[in-house]
Amino acid sequence: MSNWICNKCNIEMEDVSDIGLVFKDIDLPPAVGYRCPSCHIEFLERDFVVNELNQAEEMLEGK
Ligand SMILES: [Zn+2]
Repeated sequence: MSNWICNKCNIEMEDVSDIGLVFKDIDLPPAVGYRCPSCHIEFLERDFVVNELNQAEEMLEGK
């Protein structure tokens, strides 16, 4: 897994699995991503987001 560096603080970001995520007014389960321990900016793990959002969209659009 590649390490992410915060552009602002220039330090390594931490792996976290409790990022709050809201998509189209729906609270999704906590997301996996990265958080800067200094400024606490959060980035989502991209593949995880794509999968989760696709599932959410399928749920919303499945009739
Ligand atoms: Zn930072």
